[in-house]
Amino acid sequence: MSLLEIENLSVSFGEGNREVEAVRGVSLSLDKGETAALVGESGSGKSVTALSVMRLLPYPLAHHPSGSIKFAGEEIMDAPESHMRQLRGDRMAMIFQEPLNSLNPLHCIEKQISEVLLVHKAMTSAMARDRVEELMTLVGLQDQISRLGNLPHEFSGGQQQRVMIAMALANEPDLLIADEPTTAVDVTIQAQLLDLLKDLQEKLDMALLLITHDLSVVRHMADTVSVMNAGRIVEQGAAADIFERPQDTYTKTLLA
Ligand code: ADP
Ligand code: MG
Repeated sequence: MSLLEIENLSVSFGEGNREVEAVRGVSLSLDKGETAALVGESGSGKSVTALSVMRLLPYPLAHHPSGSIKFAGEEIMDAPESHMRQLRGDRMAMIFQEPLNSLNPLHCIEKQISEVLLVHKAMTSAMARDRVEELMTLVGLQDQISRLGNLPHEFSGGQQQRVMIAMALANEPDLLIADEPTTAVDVTIQAQLLDLLKDLQEKLDMALLLITHDLSVVRHMADTVSVMNAGRIVEQGAAADIFERPQDTYTKTLLA
């Protein structure tokens, strides 16, 4: 049994002649401790697939004409929202492209990193403080611990993304979804952040669903690759095989 098993997932927005079929029959599985890359050009349905797993789409505008999503063996497509909230706080987490869209501009970073600990782990504030410091160290922000009372905009883009990673890791999720996590930072910082993610994934034995359009990142990090085009998976398999022997014409274009 894989940690995550997506089968024949479809996602549409709207109804009737306004219906947009964003994802069409996607299947994908991801084992504990493994990295699956989801690649494809902008608009191919990568984020919508990921958001389906987290159940963070704008329902009921978004709906699923077909599909099953099993997490640790349990069907979650029809799980009650309260259960999904618990899973999101505890076992799955997601990092988004733009850190400033996900961080609250009015709250200091300590408050944001510790929130999940106070809510889901019922930690005392002293325990949460210790854990926040541990997380800051884990994501390479040990020098910023004295600035935990600062607001997000007082940090650089790369530091903000590290704060996002710390928040995502606070509860030691089994599954981390990273949706183009380094698009908003410059190239040198990108490499550092990806190394950090890879390192943490190994250390914490997390499954990582990594969304990217950068194939060098895939080569460096992924065990399996799913290539999406226009809502469908056009090629899927072990990363090494796909780089060696791409079958699909679209994959060949991406690689070229
Ligand atoms: P990717 O992440 O691969 O760039 P997305 O998954 O964001 O692409 O989008 C896939 C398709 O779904 C696009 O055609 C997009 O316009 C559509 N889509 C995404 N979100 C919405 C939404 N909230 N309402 C309507 N259409 C949407
Ligand atoms: Mg996207």
